[in-house]
Amino acid sequence: MEVKGKRKCKHCEEYNDISKMVKYNEKFFCENCFIEYNTKRSRKKLTKERAYEILDKLKEEMNVFLNEISVFKEFDDYICEEYYITNLPHLYYIKMNDIKNLNRKGLRKKIDFEILLEIFKNEKFKQICRNARAKKEDLVGYDAFNYDLAVALSKYDKYVYQRKKADLNKIKNIEVRQKQEQVKVFKIESSENKNILNESDILF
Ligand SMILES: [Zn+2]
Repeated sequence: MEVKGKRKCKHCEEYNDISKMVKYNEKFFCENCFIEYNTKRSRKKLTKERAYEILDKLKEEMNVFLNEISVFKEFDDYICEEYYITNLPHLYYIKMNDIKNLNRKGLRKKIDFEILLEIFKNEKFKQICRNARAKKEDLVGYDAFNYDLAVALSKYDKYVYQRKKADLNKIKNIEVRQKQEQVKVFKIESSENKNILNESDILF
């Protein structure tokens, strides 16, 4: 997902496309402006070589930052659609930021939002949540999401573990197939495929 939006450049003071800028000491710069600003100012001037070196690093960091925004955006969009929410409350962003920054009680490991989204999209997960919610009180909208989020976070570690196991099984299966091809055994016995876990089989 492409990240759109404009930010004001500290140097030329114009609003530019965020994807063409870099972030330095919490301020945004156009790439050219970054070089100009740091090589021409009177104090703490950098050599051109050093400025370009830093710029390369900042461009990499910017890509990571943009990718993160894009993942969050995808997550937000999905949640709105899935739970019929028109406007996410401010509390949602505080909560998601807390999760991102490990500010929540009980969170020790970094949560990958791409994986969290995968959990939310998983049919078995949806079913488990729907059933659990129906038994208590029929929560809807943002309340339903909140409930499901708690479930998703509690299942996160297990899901990551099962996911890794499934990936390893896939690799193992490919290796088995390659070996079979090498010795020219074309008939793959169905019993040998028993251990393959499909993504949809990842259990909660
Ligand atoms: Zn600029």
